[in-house]
Amino acid sequence: MSPVLHLRDARKVYPGTPPVESIRGITLTIHSGELTAIVGPSGSGKTTLLNLATGLDRPTSGSVRITGQPIEDLSDRRLAGLRAHRLGVVFQQFHLIAHLSALDNVATGLLYRGVPATTRRAAATDALARVGLAHRAHHKAQKLSGGEQQRVAIARALVGRPPVVFADEPTGNLDSVTGAGILALLRDLHADGTTIVVITHSDEVAQAAHRRITLRDGLVADDTGSPE
Ligand code: ADP
Ligand code: MG
Repeated sequence: MSPVLHLRDARKVYPGTPPVESIRGITLTIHSGELTAIVGPSGSGKTTLLNLATGLDRPTSGSVRITGQPIEDLSDRRLAGLRAHRLGVVFQQFHLIAHLSALDNVATGLLYRGVPATTRRAAATDALARVGLAHRAHHKAQKLSGGEQQRVAIARALVGRPPVVFADEPTGNLDSVTGAGILALLRDLHADGTTIVVITHSDEVAQAAHRRITLRDGLVADDTGSPE
């Protein structure tokens, strides 16, 4: 089991008066093949942790290694390349492009991989079907419901079949039936060998995970089921 993510005493301080210490010294390792849930109250630092873990943001101090690479050694461009090839990220706020269709939004998940447009569209069609949204492929993102937008964001993260998927509350906007479908999809991906880190408020999702990391006030308060 190789580490796909390693944080050592990672801290994140957002400047301001007073500054906000969002992550206050987190050390943890996530290994290949794990299905991990990150739980904790609102404001405990979960999204900040995801931003560091995916290289979208850099720690104020401490170190972050993604698939063995210390991100402090990588330029923003190299980091974006690493993310495009190795990671799928489902954002809490989706970050879809409003005027593009669902299909074109999903296809952007392959934009930085040098995949030809026809292949991108075929893969995007597939990924939309996996989240149960084939019938919405040609609707603009801005016309979709919150739950549908969330599923488009999930499809975009999965379209390149990345070895590691991070998802920030991926069932937060879904009714319980659709949420159960997304949980089943995450379990399938995990069974196929994908490493999954999911931030969640859902007991069902947290219970499906083998490991649960609880954040409180920017620190790891509990870590159960860790293979270490
Ligand atoms: P969670 O995802 O667990 O709800 P966050 O990681 O979003 O928590 O936020 C943790 C803390 O950091 C909160 O107090 C939040 O207000 C603060 N925070 C998050 N992002 C920023 C930012 N860009 N600028 C300033 N403060 C931030
Ligand atoms: Mg959050």
